[in-house]
Amino acid sequence: MRVIIDSELCTGHGRCYVLAPLAFGCDDSGFGAVTVSGELDADQLRMADLAVANCPERAVLLIGTEPSA
Ligand code: SF4
Repeated sequence: MRVIIDSELCTGHGRCYVLAPLAFGCDDSGFGAVTVSGELDADQLRMADLAVANCPERAVLLIGTEPSA
C-alpha cells in the first residue's frame, strides 16, 4: 500500500501533516506533501489512514489495495 496526495484537490488545510507527521509534511505554501515512499509500514499506514479520514478535500489517497474476490 502506498499513499499519495492529489495536488489538484489539496487546498492546504494542513490536517494531514499536523495529524500524521510520520508520513506527511508541507511545501513552502502549506500544501500537503507525502514524505514517505514505497510500501507503507504499519505505523505509516496508520498515519495515512488518519490523514485519509481527516482530509476535508479527500485529497489523500491510498493506492495498491488488492481487489477483493
Ligand atoms: S489535509 Fe488534505 S487538503 Fe489539507 S494539506 Fe493535507 S492533503 Fe491537502
